Amino acid sequence: MGRKFVVGGNWKMNGDKNQVTDIVETLKKGPLDPYVEVVVGVPAIYLSYVKSIIPDSIGVAAQNCWKVPKGAFTGEISPAMIKDVGANWVILGHSERRTIFGEKDELVAEKVAHALEQGLKVIACIGETLEEREGGKTEEVVFRQTKALVPAIGNNWANVVIAYEPVWAIGTGKTASPQQAQDVHASLRNWLSTNVSPDVANSVRIQYGGSVTAANAKELAACPDIDGFLVGGASLKPEFVSIVNATQ
Ligand code: PGA
Repeated sequence: MGRKFVVGGNWKMNGDKNQVTDIVETLKKGPLDPYVEVVVGVPAIYLSYVKSIIPDSIGVAAQNCWKVPKGAFTGEISPAMIKDVGANWVILGHSERRTIFGEKDELVAEKVAHALEQGLKVIACIGETLEEREGGKTEEVVFRQTKALVPAIGNNWANVVIAYEPVWAIGTGKTASPQQAQDVHASLRNWLSTNVSPDVANSVRIQYGGSVTAANAKELAACPDIDGFLVGGASLKPEFVSIVNATQ
């Protein structure tokens, strides 16, 4: 069986109640390709509200979580809380968490392990900085980031989507070319085949993220190892519908 295309919208710290209502209305109107899995990454404070107005066919993700069920962790939310309000996904290891909030591979892995243990599905983000790419270190970096996740994921790969997001392409308008993205996706799959299993390599979905728009989505979606997108800026706009439908 082929890998089901999966498109995530990462709203980041954007929107207010009116705006998130509008986005949900746009998604309801669609029409969204029924063969594509769609997930929206919602600011924690709106998770409950969005869950109450969005069709069940669209997944709802938190954008971060902590690594234990509860306790004295002021300001944090747990996977148990995310599930309690009806959301079933979490985005972890986003480059903004890694660079702005200093999250290291090890912490990201601990979060991934706990989120999976609690029954959430995870979009796990990896990707190199511009400096790393220019220094020829792209593979080294994404393999290192992925390697840290392997023991955390265990045999739970069916509940994980990997998002390859080159940091230099996020929010910059500089998309990776289809060839650049395809090359990294293919080498990741190769790495997974050797270091996890051919089955996992073959079945895990790898999204591309970084300045995806309606204008470049079709060409990227045509690449054999690109199984979806994680979309920031454009996920706040009506063009997100065209991105979801990019394989049509
Ligand atoms: P962007 O963000 O689409 O605005 O580049 C992507 C992301 O951060 O997931």
